[in-house]
Amino acid sequence: MEFPTTGLPAAANEAADSPADPPADPPADCPLCPRLVAFHRANRMAFPTFFNAPVPSFGPTDGRLLIVGLAPGLRGANQTGRPFTGDYAGDLLYSTLRDHGFSRGTYDRRADDGLELVDCRITNAVRCVPPENKPVGAEVSACRPFLARTIAGMPSLQVILALGSLAHGATLAALGQRKSAFKFGHCVVYALPEGRTLVSSYHCSRYNTNTGKLTTEMFHSVFGTIRALLDG
Ligand code: SF4
Repeated sequence: MEFPTTGLPAAANEAADSPADPPADPPADCPLCPRLVAFHRANRMAFPTFFNAPVPSFGPTDGRLLIVGLAPGLRGANQTGRPFTGDYAGDLLYSTLRDHGFSRGTYDRRADDGLELVDCRITNAVRCVPPENKPVGAEVSACRPFLARTIAGMPSLQVILALGSLAHGATLAALGQRKSAFKFGHCVVYALPEGRTLVSSYHCSRYNTNTGKLTTEMFHSVFGTIRALLDG
């Protein structure tokens, strides 16, 4: 399969050569990662009511904030078809977004719960659920053009929040930046080209909160930093 490249940074062009507008979301039958395609196929048998396809981004494209996660969780976004929806990570993320004014409505772990994001969009570095929640490097690279297009498709974008070191590295690669110049850490803040800012955080996974690596207070502090960056 070939994907178009018009208007994309060089880092986004690995899979495309058509002059048509490029898709920021992968097609439902994206074939680029054989291991993940096979995992979807197996999951369609095991969980026929699940979404079981590449998960599209969620939220307005004119938002000033883009949140980049790792990949859909098997029983989270892979089940519901909306990023971070249906599992613990989403419970923490969406409650935090509400408290900081980035959502409207009630989050109810369903893609049709009516929740709206405000000034904010959510995506994943890898759009297909990986076994054991661990994509391999080739899969992160294969999905990078979609992340680059998602970023390029947000004309008002000011802040990118990367959740976890994989999303941090994938975001930098999608922007054509060297990862070595932007060391990952919790609540690190880096200036990016075009006046944008990268904020990174430990991922809001149940594992990180259960082990105390990330507390609710730490996560709220990240969003307090983002609010200050956006609104001064
Ligand atoms: S992870 Fe991305 S590139 Fe790989 S098959 Fe899924 S949508 Fe395609």
